[in-house]
Amino acid sequence: MYPGSCECKSIQYKFTGEPLTCYACHCTDCQTSSGSAFGLSMIINKSDIEIIKGKIAITIINVNDTKVQKHHCPQCGTPFWFSADEYPGIVALKPGTFDDTSWFSPVAHLWVRSAQPWVIFDSFTPQYEKQPEISELIELWASRKNV
Ligand SMILES: [Zn+2]
Ligand SMILES: [Zn+2]
Repeated sequence: MYPGSCECKSIQYKFTGEPLTCYACHCTDCQTSSGSAFGLSMIINKSDIEIIKGKIAITIINVNDTKVQKHHCPQCGTPFWFSADEYPGIVALKPGTFDDTSWFSPVAHLWVRSAQPWVIFDSFTPQYEKQPEISELIELWASRKNV
């Protein structure tokens, strides 16, 4: 069980399952939406999220002609997870919102062709120039857990 919260603490949730995968994305959309150098995403089953405190707001945004639902704190704006009709039942959670962030690390770096030049990559985490199949990222996570 992994509890999480937003910056202002008015919303608290817990993740009761195990991730399907977790990756870092260096695409320009993720740089913009995170206001940072890359976005960190953890793909999980939506049914594994339980909201303990507060009410999450949903804003619909258009990303490359796909309607994406951004679930965030209405007070401080912290994004919790993103969902899309194309992927029913799963969400891309922002794992930086976990109270403890020490138990996971990304299995891959995506869109490294647009990564900031000062980002230093390790030699063992796979890198993709663009977007790999999500199934490939899920396999990477599963194979790492079995090591
Ligand atoms: Zn908040
Ligand atoms: Zn991205």
